[in-house]
Amino acid sequence: MSKLTYSILLLGCYFIRMSIRYVYSRRYTRSEKVVKERSGKELANYLLAQTGFPLPMALWAVSDFFDFAQLDLPLAARMVGLAFSVSSVTLFFFVHRALGQNFSPVLEIDASHTLVRHGPYALVRHPMYSSLILFAFGNGLLSANLVVFGVQLATITTLCISRIPAEEKMLANTFGEDYQVLMAETPRLFPRLLRRRS
Ligand code: SAH
Repeated sequence: MSKLTYSILLLGCYFIRMSIRYVYSRRYTRSEKVVKERSGKELANYLLAQTGFPLPMALWAVSDFFDFAQLDLPLAARMVGLAFSVSSVTLFFFVHRALGQNFSPVLEIDASHTLVRHGPYALVRHPMYSSLILFAFGNGLLSANLVVFGVQLATITTLCISRIPAEEKMLANTFGEDYQVLMAETPRLFPRLLRRRS
């Protein structure tokens, strides 16, 4: 398949992901916030989340800047990448559906915030970040480009390291024991393959 076909598949998955985000964030700005994290670090994380995924993909698709990092992967590997990216977008949809109006692009709690424990949140505490890890691997294989893979993996790794502790502290302060129970019962990012005996 040609680079154009791979570019369309890659950017198509990203476009669907952004459309899901758009639909679910329409209610977001209208809700009243009771906790807002507005530090410089949170602003930097927000900007990183907005640019770290689309920029490398778009530059790869429209230029030859990253050709030095292009791998000669077989079609099967690239199709595995497509399957990962499509699965990631599907998970992203179910995460938004479960979070509903509790979603926000920055760390905050709104007046009617509820603790979500169903859907993907029954398996892991940060399924949106899990979906982005899957997306980085999918896009890396689909583009067969080490810069696309490296920048996206570095983006989600940075977000996980710098955001998850602050997010969990905020949720634990808000939901107390309920969140402590969720933390004890569900892993952060990767679901347990075997159920724990109770
Ligand atoms: N880190 C989560 C959510 C990212 S969206 C994930 O990867 O799935 C960020 C917002 O989600 C935060 O402002 C936080 O208030 C909210 N949030 C995170 N986990 C939540 C939960 N279990 N229930 C309700 N809101 C949650």
